[in-house]
Amino acid sequence: MQNSENKEKKPGLIFMTRQVMKYVFKTAWREKKIVFFLYFIKLIADIFGEFKLLLLPKLLVDEIVAISNGAGTEEHLRNAVLYVVLTAAAELISRVLVNIADSSLAYEAVYLDRVLTFELAEKSMEMDFQHTEDPEVLDQRKRAEEGISWYSGGVIGMLRCCYYLTYNIALMFTAITLFIFYCPLILPVQIIGMGIVTYCNFRKQRIATEAFMKLGKVNRIFGYYLFEVASQKYGKDTRLYDGSGLIDNRSKIFGDQSVQIFKEQAVSSVKFDYGSNLANALRDAISYFYMGYKTLQGVLTLGDFTMCVSAASRLFQSLLGIGRNIQDLTEKCSYAYQFLVYLDYPDALSKGNTAIKKGEHEIVFENVSFKYPRAEEYVLKNINIKIKSGEHLSIVGLNGAGKTTFIKLLCRLYDVNEGRILIDGVDIREYSMEEYRKLFSVVFQDFRLFAFSLKDNVAMGRADDEVDETAVTDALKLSGLYEDAVKLDEGLNTRLFKSFDEHGTELSGGQQQKTAISRALYRNAPVVILDEPTAALDPLAEYEIYKKFDTLVGGKTAIYISHRLSSCKFCDRIAVFSENTIKEYGTHDELVRRENGIYAEMFAAQAQYYIDAAS
Ligand code: ADP
Repeated sequence: MQNSENKEKKPGLIFMTRQVMKYVFKTAWREKKIVFFLYFIKLIADIFGEFKLLLLPKLLVDEIVAISNGAGTEEHLRNAVLYVVLTAAAELISRVLVNIADSSLAYEAVYLDRVLTFELAEKSMEMDFQHTEDPEVLDQRKRAEEGISWYSGGVIGMLRCCYYLTYNIALMFTAITLFIFYCPLILPVQIIGMGIVTYCNFRKQRIATEAFMKLGKVNRIFGYYLFEVASQKYGKDTRLYDGSGLIDNRSKIFGDQSVQIFKEQAVSSVKFDYGSNLANALRDAISYFYMGYKTLQGVLTLGDFTMCVSAASRLFQSLLGIGRNIQDLTEKCSYAYQFLVYLDYPDALSKGNTAIKKGEHEIVFENVSFKYPRAEEYVLKNINIKIKSGEHLSIVGLNGAGKTTFIKLLCRLYDVNEGRILIDGVDIREYSMEEYRKLFSVVFQDFRLFAFSLKDNVAMGRADDEVDETAVTDALKLSGLYEDAVKLDEGLNTRLFKSFDEHGTELSGGQQQKTAISRALYRNAPVVILDEPTAALDPLAEYEIYKKFDTLVGGKTAIYISHRLSSCKFCDRIAVFSENTIKEYGTHDELVRRENGIYAEMFAAQAQYYIDAAS
């Protein structure tokens, strides 16, 4: 079930249903075997209820007719009372059992829904990073989320469909058996009626599935405006820049698109509704006429007539039910299948299994060129650079020069299109991804902190180990956040943000950046990468970081992206990115003296700014 395959050839309904049901049964069996037992109880109780509806009224009517005809009154009266008592008992027992099963299934459904949500979240976190920036994958995630929740009803929603299918099949066989004995000619009328109704429903379902596929993208964008942009995260920006006006406008456009899709679906479906209603009316008329005729002829008793009327209705209901259940099940499975497509989304990057050797590491970029997936232009072209173990490299360049992309390639968030990146002489594609990622402590410009405690945010860098409190304190001290941290209401245990805890704290931009730096330091990886780590810091805090830079990264290899060139003095080498490649490379002293050099010009411009600002 590869995605590319999925794009080329749309899988059929039967295939999707089989795959989804396999998954549903496996998951329910693994997580909650009791649901099968509960459905079994429900089936017994429901069949018992049907027995009451079909057979007991016939027996009762025949006894009443016998009494009114004056035949052996006492015996018939006794029988009639017995059938009434049996009817009441059957009703009571079946209702109680069905209620017990339904209420238990309702809470088991909540648990099973959580399991699916967890799998979705796990896949989203584990999939290759480049997928998370790909709109096609984001659309697929939206389809998966909606497909496995309210569109399909989750595991219980689909098991419920199977249950009703089993129940209706049992009911159909019961009704057919009765007709074979009492009224066989009714069967073809019922079957033709069912055929027409099923066909109409099938066409309606196809229309609904097509609408669902179109809604994936619209709903994602609609959700972005109404949930993401309207969330507290954007609180300040939406207020100060009249975001609500923008949200109103945009969400109206996408809201209108959704309504239009639903409207088209309703218009295309209406003729199939008329078709099935007509088939239904004709079926009733022909069946009742025929059975009434047989009763008047004396072939059927009044009790038989009552039973046949009920059986005709139950047979049609069961046949219709089977058709609907199959449609409902295949429809639900076609929605839920989007969840399986997402879970099976293929890796974007090849995964090697070579282990990283211990000790020092040398990084080499060899003729590396790269363009983002679906992009036309190369972002990096012919990058050649060697970073020795323990070296501190500063990367500078204008916005959009490709500095962050260079880091993404090094961290293997993307793979190069041409050339190779070598670590210790081995192409990084050959390393085991899990081990490879452990080489790096990175603070990206757009880092994210979590609504956990400050301590947990710092220790996340080594989430697999026990939290080392001393190391957390040391990392906070190094980044300069410790003094602020101990003043928080609950010290290092204070939660960040207010998502879970109304007493949670909102750190300033600079404090958040220091937390991210502490997280990178705590991780204690051999290569430290800081992508504009001081952008949100005030000049004093920035100076503090530079001053402590050697202590911060120690003897580790460090790559440091910054717009403030004064920071470059603290580094051994500088690489200047421009026009998609490394235009200049050398020490600060070499580059600053280079005539008409990019670095020399940038440095002079910034120095001038500081002189002007000071005067
Ligand atoms: P820098 O860090 O030097 O500011 P980046 O590496 O972030 O530059 O970006 C380099 C170029 O790549 C820019 O033109 C940017 O628009 C483009 N780019 C960055 N990320 C993506 C992405 N995920 N998909 C497509 N293009 C991207």
